Amino acid sequence: MTESIEIVETSVETPLCPHCEQAIRRVNARKVKSPFGVRFLYFCDHCRKVLGVSHRKGFWMG
Ligand SMILES: [Zn+2]
Repeated sequence: MTESIEIVETSVETPLCPHCEQAIRRVNARKVKSPFGVRFLYFCDHCRKVLGVSHRKGFWMG
């Protein structure tokens, strides 16, 4: 049996940057042009390390 993981939307808990461990109050987004379309790089407002990349749903990898 595999236990399922629950996703709970919260506005109470503040996420922390995994790099500088500061509370993330603002995420910067930088537009990236790729052959697959426009994507965004999201990076930390404090240390500028990249937190993630947006993916277009249903187009390349979902
Ligand atoms: Zn950071």
